[in-house]
Amino acid sequence: MSRYQSARLSSLSPYTPGEQPRDMKYIKLNTNESPFPPSEKAQKLAAEAAKKLQLYSDPTCRTLVDKLAEVYGVEPDEVIVTNGSDEVLDFAFQAFCDEDVPARFPDITYGFYPVFAARNGIPYETVALRDDFTIDIKQYFNTGKTIFIANPNAPTGIALTRDEIEQILISNPNNVVVIDEAYVDFGGESAVPLIKQYDNLLVTQTFSKSRSLAGGRLGFGIGNRELIADLHTIRYSTNPYNVNSMTAAAGYGVLCDEVYTQKNCRTIMDNREYTTAALRELGFTVLDSKANFVFATTPAMRGADLYAALKQNGILVRHFDNPRISDFVRISIGTREQMQTLVAVVEKLLTEV
Ligand code: PMP
Repeated sequence: MSRYQSARLSSLSPYTPGEQPRDMKYIKLNTNESPFPPSEKAQKLAAEAAKKLQLYSDPTCRTLVDKLAEVYGVEPDEVIVTNGSDEVLDFAFQAFCDEDVPARFPDITYGFYPVFAARNGIPYETVALRDDFTIDIKQYFNTGKTIFIANPNAPTGIALTRDEIEQILISNPNNVVVIDEAYVDFGGESAVPLIKQYDNLLVTQTFSKSRSLAGGRLGFGIGNRELIADLHTIRYSTNPYNVNSMTAAAGYGVLCDEVYTQKNCRTIMDNREYTTAALRELGFTVLDSKANFVFATTPAMRGADLYAALKQNGILVRHFDNPRISDFVRISIGTREQMQTLVAVVEKLLTEV
């Protein structure tokens, strides 16, 4: 830290992204990326857009926003696009939380929420997940707080139903409820259809997982047009060109190729079921996941040791050294071949302990 850094930031502890190693070729199952390349149309449109990079991108991202509105059955002014869904989440913390209206989210969830709160000077409280890692929705009734729920949750993969989300919305009519659906395309139930009925609902989604565009950085929010207008106020006060023109073109291209996306999602869900069954067969506890990862633990090895042993064998997974989950590893779902290799390596490791 330099001696010039603002005192306001002196205790900020930043989010730690998953490793993106360069030292060797790993089977990379640590950051929930898609194992499949972006759709061909996305690649082609991004390459065409690259020829006009001398121009600023369209700050309204009109073509992309119109297409998203069409795909999700909403109006264009009910949609905002951002630089990854991290950005729309950050905007939501800024727009809908303050000293009087703190944020509330589970104790085990996406690790960026406390960082967004801290960086924006927003107080927050966490609610413990139950012992089985499910969310007790009653803890989110009548809160007077801005609620952030990842659904499916991360890193557990466990999902709430749309009915459960609706109960939370009904009981918080004067507070915004943000549902982070980064992983919803792998078997979850989206809350998007509820936005017409509940003006306190903001749904966020991403192109990073099911749509194979993690490196493009594209996310979006869908909600009541007044909520979206509040987010645009933050966006235009931060960076009106937050989505670059190649990414906007790629995003439009992916949305024209929904069949490809859905095929990939089905494959990943099949591979998830294969991996869950195989690990359970080896004595693991694997939480029921509706995401493109599984959260798993074995009585035979500590989580940190399993992570390290897998890395040594060329497989990267994610380990969180946090209370209650330090003996788990989070394993992203890749191709069937990658998951078969993972299972074979785990089996070998278990015979060595
Ligand atoms: N929400 C959750 C729950 C996530 O796990 C992630 C991915 N790290 C994000 C949001 C943000 O993803 P992106 O910024 O790539 O859209």
